[in-house]
Amino acid sequence: MSQIQNLSEKVKEFLSYETGQKHTWCSGCGNYGILNSITRALVLEGYKPHQVALTFDIGCSGNASDKIMTNTFHGLHGRVIPLASGMALANQNMPIIAMAGDGATLSEGINHFIHGIRNNYNMVFILHNNENYGLTTGQASAATRVGRNMNGTPNGAFLEPINACQLALNCNPSFVARSFSGDTEQLTSLIQKGLQHKGFAFIEVFQSCPTYNKQTTDSWYNEMLKDIKNIEGYDRANISTAREIVEKKDFLATGLLYENKEKLDYNDMQTYRNVNSNPVDEVKQKDISEIIKSFQ
Ligand code: SF4
Repeated sequence: MSQIQNLSEKVKEFLSYETGQKHTWCSGCGNYGILNSITRALVLEGYKPHQVALTFDIGCSGNASDKIMTNTFHGLHGRVIPLASGMALANQNMPIIAMAGDGATLSEGINHFIHGIRNNYNMVFILHNNENYGLTTGQASAATRVGRNMNGTPNGAFLEPINACQLALNCNPSFVARSFSGDTEQLTSLIQKGLQHKGFAFIEVFQSCPTYNKQTTDSWYNEMLKDIKNIEGYDRANISTAREIVEKKDFLATGLLYENKEKLDYNDMQTYRNVNSNPVDEVKQKDISEIIKSFQ
């Protein structure tokens, strides 16, 4: 197949993920780049829309749930990881991508984030980090930097933000990556790597929110970001190096920051089970009509 034919096939495959629903994100929102990168990664990995499942949390990012033609589920606020975990356990050969904003991940659902990493459920989890609650008109979140003027804290946020990668790296993760919504090439490649990874692939995406977060603009990010490819000798298998780099204040490291290929995923950890069987099939069918009758 010629290069042009190949390209045209890929474009057709990309368009097969289109739903035709109107996008309602603000102009310049980072969500466009993230959705575009997810779709590109799925196409480049050879998946058809019916072969994958995506779960969405509440927030501006969740509004993508009807913008991509695949198996999608829009869950409760902060609960996207349990939802995706169930889907991953019941469909062990189906790639699952879950996503949520910084509010849902670092406040409402922070317990699920920690246990998702600990359990190493097989999924890609994308944190859309726009450092505020955009859907509810720009309040500070647990990721907002100190001093940022937000609705609700007009004199400046005063609590130290939670560093999502630092938190993830302290939960014995298997895959921690970071990218930027404006760098769709890097982000697409990281999502592809996440899809190939067996276990919980965490990708934090710094996302511009030009409507409510006026200080973390695209140009601010472009000055602050540093791809670890440009850091000589960076060893992504060394967790101490990864912890050190995500704590840097003078730049924001991006790329695949840490990977542990030895850590078993949730299914493989349970050596007493037949890991190749589907847990749903393991549930024995039982006639419960007599039990139901006893309540009537
Ligand atoms: Fe995007 Fe911010 Fe607008 Fe939400 S409020 S759609 S995050 S720019």
